[in-house]
Order: sequence, then structure tokens, then C-alpha cells
Amino acid sequence: MRCRKCGENAVIYISQHNIALCEQHFDDFFLDRVRKAIGKYRLFPKNAHILVAVSGGKDSLAIWDVLNRLGYRADGLHIDLGIGEYSMKSRDITESFASEKGYRLIVVDVRDYLEGFTVPLAAKKLRRATCSLCGLVKRYIMNRVGLEEGYDVLVTGHNMDDEAATLLGNIINWQVGYLTRQKPLLEKRHEKFIPKAKPLIYLTEREVAAYAIIRGINYVEEECPNAHGATSLEYKALLNELERKHPGTKHRFYHTFLGLNLSFDGVDTSRDVKLNSCEICGYPTTERVCAMCRVRERLSRLRGE
Ligand SMILES: [Zn+2]
Ligand SMILES: [Zn+2]
Repeated sequence: MRCRKCGENAVIYISQHNIALCEQHFDDFFLDRVRKAIGKYRLFPKNAHILVAVSGGKDSLAIWDVLNRLGYRADGLHIDLGIGEYSMKSRDITESFASEKGYRLIVVDVRDYLEGFTVPLAAKKLRRATCSLCGLVKRYIMNRVGLEEGYDVLVTGHNMDDEAATLLGNIINWQVGYLTRQKPLLEKRHEKFIPKAKPLIYLTEREVAAYAIIRGINYVEEECPNAHGATSLEYKALLNELERKHPGTKHRFYHTFLGLNLSFDGVDTSRDVKLNSCEICGYPTTERVCAMCRVRERLSRLRGE
């Protein structure tokens, strides 16, 4: 395989564009795709103070690396979820990456928000699915820490495969409300809501992995042990199967959806949903007291038992 641009040995074949590229031209391509997402969806201005949610996986480390290379001011936020061995390794890898690059990293221990419990222990106490509690806690902490530390925008490492799989799930279950909110940029819609941006939406999982390997980024390869058997992984496998037979399917499926900018009669879109301020913590909620504060209240009562 030869590089389409220079004829040197290619290191990767990119099915969505039917081209092979050498290391240098793949790097150019990768940065270009990130620039394209930032420009097309006006994710953030050049002088924005960015906080990247960094799990220690390839996607978040790659976007953190790219944003700094492109000259953005991007710091990292790592949340230690207390999921045994997996969390210890994730924290370790994230901290090593930050110190090696000289990037500022904020580490938050989830126990500080969950009355001393880790995510798996809290889920067990509350008799609740670990992944849904984990998602709630992460969203709350990212938003709150981002605002408290004075950042303009929170960046996450969702890639095209993640977004296409989420889209497929939202369609199969006709989660119309989620469909209207599945966007590369969630704008500020409450004084205590930090905008959230996804600059990796033009890159597939495989391309992000190739970038991480070429850049010598050491990342956590394992999925979270709780994600094992998750439906989202099945959706990804299905889409990959289609992509193999019909190159470009994933890109068409997800990016055509974004282009359509669908709205549904009678369904609240992100602009319409009324957000109140939580009576306890002041952060946005559609209820009187936010889900996180309700979790904390229940956990503090369960503490004594
Ligand atoms: Zn080349
Ligand atoms: Zn609250």
C-alpha cells in the first residue's frame, strides 16, 4: 500500500475515504479532521480555556494531545471512579501522560461526591445499575468542576463510532428527546451549565487508535469491566460489519443525521426543556432537587446502616 499523497509506504487505509496514507500524511489528515469539526460546528474559539475529560483511554488522551498541538489552552480532568484495578491503572496512565507532556491535570476522587463510596459500592447500596449511576456522577462532576475552575468549555473524546452507535441505539429505541440533543456542541442553557464539545466526530475508533500508537501514547486498552456485554458494543460491532461490506456507511449514517438537524413535533428540544437550579447545590435540573443531590442524600442515610 502506497500513500495517496506522496507514494511512500502507507501505514493506514482509511475506508471512509478510500485512501491509504503514510505516517506524516495520516498525522496531517488527523489534525485536519479535528480542525474541521471545530470549524464546522463552531465548537470553541481559539482563545477558549478548555477542560478535557480524560479517562486514560485512547480517545481522550488523543484529543488532549491534538488540542495542545493545535495551540489551544487545554487542561485535563480525570475522575477516579474507584472501580478497582481498572481505575487505578487509568489514573496512573493519565497522570504519567500529563507529567510527561507538562499539561495541567485536575484529579477528582469520586468518593468526595458520593459520601465516601466508590461508584460500584454506591450502585450496590442504591440497588442501581452501575453504568447509569457512573454516567450521572461523571456528568455532574465534569460540569461542576469545569465551572468552578473557570473553564469555557468541556471537551470529550467521543469518536464517530461512539456517536454512530449512540445514534443507532437512540433510533432503535426511538429516544426522540435524546436524538434532538445528540449534537457535536451542547450550548450553555443555564448559568451553571458548561458547553460540551466533541471534536473527534470525524474520526473513527480505528483512526484514533492509530494516532495514539503513532504518537507513542500509552493508553488503557481495556474497556471498563462494567461495560462488558453492553449493548453499545454490539451496535458498534454491527456498524463495523456494515462498514466492511459498504465502506463509508458509518460516516453517512451519522453525518447525514447531523446535517438533517431533525426536530419532532411535540418533543422538547434542548432549547425548550426548562432547567431549574437545584435547591441544594444550585446546578441545573429539571426537578426541584438534582439527581446527584438525591443520590447523595440517600447515600448519607444508608451510611449509618
Ligand atoms: Zn505520504
Ligand atoms: Zn443538586
